[in-house]
Amino acid sequence: MALSNEIRFSKKRTWSHDLPISYLMQQGVENPGVLSLAAGLVDQNSLPVSITKNAFESLFSDSGAAREALQYGTTAGSLSLRKLLLTHLTNLEQKSAEELGVTVDNLIVTTGSQQYLSLLGEVLLDPGDICLVAAPTYFVFLGVLQGLGARIISVDTDESGMRMDSLDSTLEMLESQGQLDRVKMIYLVSDYENPSGLSLSVERRKQVIGVAQKWSKQHRIHILEDLAYRELCYDGPVLPSIRSFDKTGETVILTQTFSKSFAPGLRVGFGVASKQVCAAISDKKGNDDFGSTNMSQHILANALRENLYYDHVDYLRSVYREKRDCMLDSAETYFSKFRNVHWIHPRGGLYVWMTLSESIETGFQSPLFQKAIHQDKVMYVPGELCYAFDQGIDSSEQPVIQKNHMRLTFGVQNIEGIREGMKRLSDAVKSFI
Ligand code: PMP
Repeated sequence: MALSNEIRFSKKRTWSHDLPISYLMQQGVENPGVLSLAAGLVDQNSLPVSITKNAFESLFSDSGAAREALQYGTTAGSLSLRKLLLTHLTNLEQKSAEELGVTVDNLIVTTGSQQYLSLLGEVLLDPGDICLVAAPTYFVFLGVLQGLGARIISVDTDESGMRMDSLDSTLEMLESQGQLDRVKMIYLVSDYENPSGLSLSVERRKQVIGVAQKWSKQHRIHILEDLAYRELCYDGPVLPSIRSFDKTGETVILTQTFSKSFAPGLRVGFGVASKQVCAAISDKKGNDDFGSTNMSQHILANALRENLYYDHVDYLRSVYREKRDCMLDSAETYFSKFRNVHWIHPRGGLYVWMTLSESIETGFQSPLFQKAIHQDKVMYVPGELCYAFDQGIDSSEQPVIQKNHMRLTFGVQNIEGIREGMKRLSDAVKSFI
């Protein structure tokens, strides 16, 4: 009998292919000398080397504690870390745990917040279920949704974040199409959105809970609040989370990470949800990995316990503030001469969202991207990746994917690299103006 070489991959496999993140990383590797304003890495020089070293030394000076860290942990994460996370959350919200309605049982530690996003998608979404997102939004999460076969519907966004009137009318339209029962969640990066750098206004943070509850007719529609950048605030007011306005704690699921504010290499993130949702996530995580890296959790717990963490975040804010200012300054220097080029001034986070005139496309195959990477040796993230493909709710009204934006990050390059990168990018753009 002939041996068949065919591999029958799962449907899920076919939904996750040609991921833009892999292409971007490959371009970085294949084109040495390219200055990346694309890579979502954090600042290399300010990584907490001595805090982490001291945490390891302190942990290993106690052989009992060291053995505990070297052993398997629990699926939900170390209890002592979860207690510290509860305090961390109350510090950030300026509200007590009782006021927030959160206990350690609502908290799950994950391998970065990316794992929390992905687990949540797995336990809430069946193929064809709907997630509403801002346009633009975090493109890696769009990939996760796509990989689950979910329908992604974009909602209009302005300078105060997702528009609540558009959200409401989208849900109304979905109901009229008999699709409301497929709507499972609304995804929001409420602080310093990746990629736009915009934050959702306080007014809308309060309103969105009402909108989600108004349309929770057949089942609960959750709000997934991704606060990955919450602690990287450089100026302007620090806003309360959407979760802090959710009195019962049943509508909003919040996720945060220590990747941006401490060290992504530790891969520690966490999420807060109702006990029912926690149980579902914990069961899924139990199947996947029965707990995130125990050692990392012990190291982070040490930094939080010794109060070294907050000083480090203060220091990081000053580092990134300077880098953000440098990118904005360079934009002024090199781009203000071009007509129809503008950019957003972010009050926090790691990104500057730049818009070119509509006739200049920025996608991977565009002449601009190809010239930038091969000739000018600079790389950015094409803005079109941050828009859902399956947009809009009826084909006559499909919002067009905008193709003239670039996501620029000041995270990974140093000051000279940012300046040089912006100069190179302006050289690339110049030829298309
Ligand atoms: N959410 C957003 C908006 C992000 O930008 C990122 C990382 N770039 C994540 C979540 C996930 O980060 P991590 O898994 O490192 O916590």
